[in-house]
Amino acid sequence: MKFMNSVFSKSRLLVWLALILPTMTWAQTDSKPNIIFIFSDDHAYQAIGAYGNKFAKTPNIDRIAREGALLSNNLVTNSICGPSRATLLTGKYSHKNGYPRNDDTRFNTNQTLFPEVLQQNGYQTAWIGKMHLNSLPKGFDYWNILPGQGRYYNPHFISQPNDTTLYKGYVSDVITQFSTDWLDKRDPSKPFFMIVGHKAVHREWSPALEDLGAYDDVNFPLPANFYDTYEGRKAARDQDMSIDKTMRMKEDLKVNVNYDKDYLYKHLDPEQKKIFKAYYEKISKEPTEKNLTGKALIEWKYQRYIKDYLATANSLDRNIGRLLDYLDQKGLSKNTVVIYASDQGFYMGEHGWFDKRFIYEESLKTPFVIRYPGVVKPGSKLDQLVMNIDWAPTVLNIANAKIPADIQGKSFLPLLKSTTHTAKVPWRKDAYYHYYEFPEPHHVFPHFGIRTDRYKLAYFYGGADSWELYDLKTDPSEMNNLYGNKQTEKLTADLKTRLKALMAEYQDDEALKILQTAKK
Ligand code: CA
Repeated sequence: MKFMNSVFSKSRLLVWLALILPTMTWAQTDSKPNIIFIFSDDHAYQAIGAYGNKFAKTPNIDRIAREGALLSNNLVTNSICGPSRATLLTGKYSHKNGYPRNDDTRFNTNQTLFPEVLQQNGYQTAWIGKMHLNSLPKGFDYWNILPGQGRYYNPHFISQPNDTTLYKGYVSDVITQFSTDWLDKRDPSKPFFMIVGHKAVHREWSPALEDLGAYDDVNFPLPANFYDTYEGRKAARDQDMSIDKTMRMKEDLKVNVNYDKDYLYKHLDPEQKKIFKAYYEKISKEPTEKNLTGKALIEWKYQRYIKDYLATANSLDRNIGRLLDYLDQKGLSKNTVVIYASDQGFYMGEHGWFDKRFIYEESLKTPFVIRYPGVVKPGSKLDQLVMNIDWAPTVLNIANAKIPADIQGKSFLPLLKSTTHTAKVPWRKDAYYHYYEFPEPHHVFPHFGIRTDRYKLAYFYGGADSWELYDLKTDPSEMNNLYGNKQTEKLTADLKTRLKALMAEYQDDEALKILQTAKK
């Protein structure tokens, strides 16, 4: 009788399984959404419409924010290109992933990279576009990347296994073409994860031909601290990244370029050269014709910089739109998470600068918008201190994959989910930062620091031996270094205690040693 019963229940179980299996397969696919991570270079949050820029034409990034969430405090651990990409791939600080500076080393791919975990969880993965880690991609079923920085016009790409090919056209367009080509030929039975790595808007800010002059009718207001004199801030005074002194007339602002000799432009074809030349030859004459000197010349450089930068971003945004349209046309939008982020922030003339590196807000924070249909409430804004070490675990969490133990970040999927309910999600109250690259190329002293919702404490070493403290509520532009003030002694001591605790938590032993010898 017992035997009969068990046979009976087994057959019933099979019938039951046959009935629910199709549903389970559907549910499983749904629990593993497709994920596209669009990752640009040097795109300042303050240069994006959704982040408040009134002039920038970024309708597609704005669309992601409008249909999803915008993170207003997404901080990086080390504000520079390669190290940020290494952190994206590993979910670890530079001292743990071994890539603290650009170019002086090869990124070690013999550590767990989160796309490999996605592969183990049934995802097909791809990296297309800029990578710039001095090593070939690992953890990607398909890749096609720019060599190093890559070129804006007629770029080379390195494809599997290791072949370099030249493509005609503008880099952002070519990258998007490769991205949709790969989506077309992917296995539609598996979920996908794709990183679209853009070169734009990295220096030298060369716009697509169709975008030349897109902002020429705008006179951009100077940031209030454009003529910063850096009192009380040794590292800020010693930098070599100012629009006045560092920005180059020829290479950066395309003044009097020799189109047949200059390495940035000599490979343009005759038609491209003609259009580019016609536009910049007129501009090249302006400083002489208008007899610009002193402040007038510095401000002219500022205007040209912002115009070229935003025009370059036009193509980036348009290509994000192409991808969003592709998802719509293929019916993929509902089951695809779309993320747009930059590798770090950038200065748009604040403190008189371009470039990044500093723990100050403009380069510490990076734009991050995410559309996740059915999970993130459209038009949400999250103000918590999220970091780029959190990106890898968050993507793994979205993919329902296990987060490796050595990842130092935390998944902020609970924060994204909190946009549809009112429950409070516990989250970090302070963030740790450590920058290394010195002295070249921009002479920014190495430093580490802590950022809370209101305060920031930083220590610059490598010869600077100086502390800085800011109250972001009363001094959001970080012009008034409060370190050493009698009234801030208790605050400083508390922040130093937390800074040391964060160093210990993230196991930054080198920083702990430096802290021991730092002046008080
Ligand atoms: Ca960058």
